[in-house]
Amino acid sequence: MAERMKGYNILVDPEKCASCLVCQMRCSLLYFGEFNPSKAFIEVQWPDQGVPNAVRFTEGCNYCGVCARNCAYGALTITGRRKVS
Ligand code: SF4
Ligand code: SF4
Repeated sequence: MAERMKGYNILVDPEKCASCLVCQMRCSLLYFGEFNPSKAFIEVQWPDQGVPNAVRFTEGCNYCGVCARNCAYGALTITGRRKVS
């Protein structure tokens, strides 16, 4: 099957994450029409007791890149188009 391009590759640098939750707000607003971090397709784990931030995409994320475009801290970077078979 020919290669198709769908969404974007998004590089995550958890060390730059400020836990501002803007990525979750933008995702949930776009797909659910509300500011609700728990509905976002990206999870941000707050640093706790020496455990650093963790940022990951959940099932359902279509890699549209909206979260990355709104991350002001450089924790999410679009590096190119995503190839799917
Ligand atoms: S990944 Fe970016 S937008 Fe999301 S919480 Fe971290 S700093 Fe904020
Ligand atoms: S890439 Fe799009 S769908 Fe995935 S978490 Fe970011 S805003 Fe949500």
